[in-house]
Amino acid sequence: MLYAYRKLNLSFINKIPLKTFIKKVKIRPLMISSIIILFLTFHRCTEVLIDNSLEPKAGFCLTFDDDYIEDWYSINDMLLLNNVKATFFVSEIYNLSTDQIELLTELKTSGHEIGSHGWNHTNAVEYLNNHTLEEYYRYEIQPAIEYMEGIGLKPESFAYPFGRSSDSLDKFLFQYFNILRHVTVEQLQLSSKEVDEIYYKFNGTRYATGLGIDVNYKISQEMLKKVLIRAKTNDEVVVLFSHRPVDSSPQQYETNKTYLDSLLKLANELNLKSYRFSELLDYK
Ligand SMILES: [Zn+2]
Repeated sequence: MLYAYRKLNLSFINKIPLKTFIKKVKIRPLMISSIIILFLTFHRCTEVLIDNSLEPKAGFCLTFDDDYIEDWYSINDMLLLNNVKATFFVSEIYNLSTDQIELLTELKTSGHEIGSHGWNHTNAVEYLNNHTLEEYYRYEIQPAIEYMEGIGLKPESFAYPFGRSSDSLDKFLFQYFNILRHVTVEQLQLSSKEVDEIYYKFNGTRYATGLGIDVNYKISQEMLKKVLIRAKTNDEVVVLFSHRPVDSSPQQYETNKTYLDSLLKLANELNLKSYRFSELLDYK
C-alpha cells in the first residue's frame, strides 16, 4: 500500500497525506476484509490440524499379507469409495514383475501403506533356533528394506510371517521399523469371549495385534459387528488382517469381496476411522 502511495505520490497526488490517500482510494475496507479472511483461513487450518493429528478416534485398521498384488489392486476402487486406507504387507518382493511393482506403487499413490512381510517370508522363531539375530537381519530384513527403498516403497512397518514373533525380536526390529504387526493366537475363541489384544489403545505401543478375517478364521458378520462396536464404544482401533480378496468361493487364506464390502459399509455406518498401520503411532 505504501509502495502504491509513493508511486502515486510522484504523479497526480503529490501533496495528499497518506491518511487522506487511504480514505480516497477506499483501501481500508479492503484491508479489513482481507484480515478477516486471513484470520478465518488460519483458524480453519488450525482446526483441521487439530482434527488430524491430536485426537485419536475409534477405528479399524485393515491389512493384507503376502503378494496377491492383482487381487489387492482389484479392491482399490472399493476401498477408495468407502474412504478406506489399507496396509499391504508384501513378502518376497523380488519375485514381482515390473507390472506388479507398478500396481503396488499405484496402491501407495492411492493413499495406502506398503509394509514389509519379509524378504523370504521366514518363520522368525524357527529360523532363530539355529541362527543369530544378525543372520536373520541379513537374510530376511535388510534385503527387503533396501529393495523396497530402491523402488520408492521404503517400509515403515513389518508384519511377522506366520505371526511368529517374540519380545526380543520385537526389540531388535524396532531399530528398523516404527511399528510391528503380530497376530492373535486367541482367534478361534472369539465367539466365546472377548479377545482384548486385537484392539489398539493409543498408548504408544509399537506393535499391534491383528485378527484374521479370511474365510478359514470363521469370523461371522455378526462377530465382526460386535468387534467393530467394541472399538467404537471404547475409542480403540481394531486391527484386522486378510490375505487374498476373491470374487467368490473363498478358500483358505482368502476373503470374499462381498464380505469385505459389508465390513467397510458397517465401519462407515459406525463412523469408524480407517487407519493405515503406521498411522496408529501418530495419535497418542
Ligand atoms: Zn504371510
